[in-house]
Amino acid sequence: MNLQIDHSVVPIVKIYVLRLSREAYLDLYHHISEKYPLEACGILLGRIENGIAIVTRILPLRNIKESRTEFWIDEKEWIGKILEAQKQGLEYIGLYHSHPDAEPLPSPSDRHRMLECPGEVWLIVGYSPSSLTMAAYRVGDDGYSLLSLQVQKSI
Ligand SMILES: [Zn+2]
Repeated sequence: MNLQIDHSVVPIVKIYVLRLSREAYLDLYHHISEKYPLEACGILLGRIENGIAIVTRILPLRNIKESRTEFWIDEKEWIGKILEAQKQGLEYIGLYHSHPDAEPLPSPSDRHRMLECPGEVWLIVGYSPSSLTMAAYRVGDDGYSLLSLQVQKSI
């Protein structure tokens, strides 16, 4: 399976903001805190409108590295979940993963993989039991960009 071809499912449009629905944020928080102190990872799903990627659902993936400092995904599980979500009308936005007890800054291998996945949003969550910090990145036509992050308040 060729990663670069599969990633063509992501539209290359400008994205400035990553918005998480309240539900997606809570699911993300639960998954990451449950996996702590290991890195957790998963898929961001939703829709892209006017430069805003709106995440309405997250789907956990298995971290095949089972590590505190790195992650990778089972590509079969990854593409299977994306295809399933697309049937439900959800667009694939990108991946999330956690950095246990560390800042949400891309590691050298994160940077390397982001370059292999142009157009994908990479949400990194720095997590410890006392704090949570998020940052979202993307490689577009014009290189790396840092996205603004929003978490929707409950309605
Ligand atoms: Zn990382």
